[in-house]
Amino acid sequence: MRVTDDRYAGEMEKFDLAMRMIRHEARTGTIRACTGFTEDRVRKLVASYCRDTGRPPLRRRRGKSPRQVAPFVSSAERQAETTRLATLYVYCRAARVTGEGQITGGDAASQVEIAQRVCQAYELYQLLESRPTLSFEWAWNLYHALLVTGELYFAWCAGCDAPYVQDRYALDYEHCPACELREQQGRRATGSP
Ligand SMILES: [Zn+2]
Repeated sequence: MRVTDDRYAGEMEKFDLAMRMIRHEARTGTIRACTGFTEDRVRKLVASYCRDTGRPPLRRRRGKSPRQVAPFVSSAERQAETTRLATLYVYCRAARVTGEGQITGGDAASQVEIAQRVCQAYELYQLLESRPTLSFEWAWNLYHALLVTGELYFAWCAGCDAPYVQDRYALDYEHCPACELREQQGRRATGSP
């Protein structure tokens, strides 16, 4: 009986997660990777979501999730936004930063729990950001680039000692986007180039 109850609870948890990710317009492949559901099952959940909410069928993005990291650091504004989302991963315990600055997974026990925490961080990001520009898939990509491939990491600013997300293969001037934006404003105010 207990095994059945646990299995049922586990299934419900996956179902809730799938619906949460559908609301964020996650790709079918991403939902499958987090829940273990089949493509057919995800498709049916999407169809029922659209029917129940009266929404037109979501424009489903096919194929693989975006994997490039350049858009995360393409400007000081975007780099600052990326950093805010990455810090929310730490806040929501989807990731942990060690004393040496290494990023590791949080204490989540399963892929479902990791995805729940990423969703929570993304929802906070949407709430706190005045003009969020990163889709859920980009948020997922950011998590992957920080935790799995290490293409992005937390660097520390020599000016203000704040952490910021940096491209592992780019030159790092130890200058955070917040300091950069402040300097840009200063240059504009004084009219210097
Ligand atoms: Zn700084």
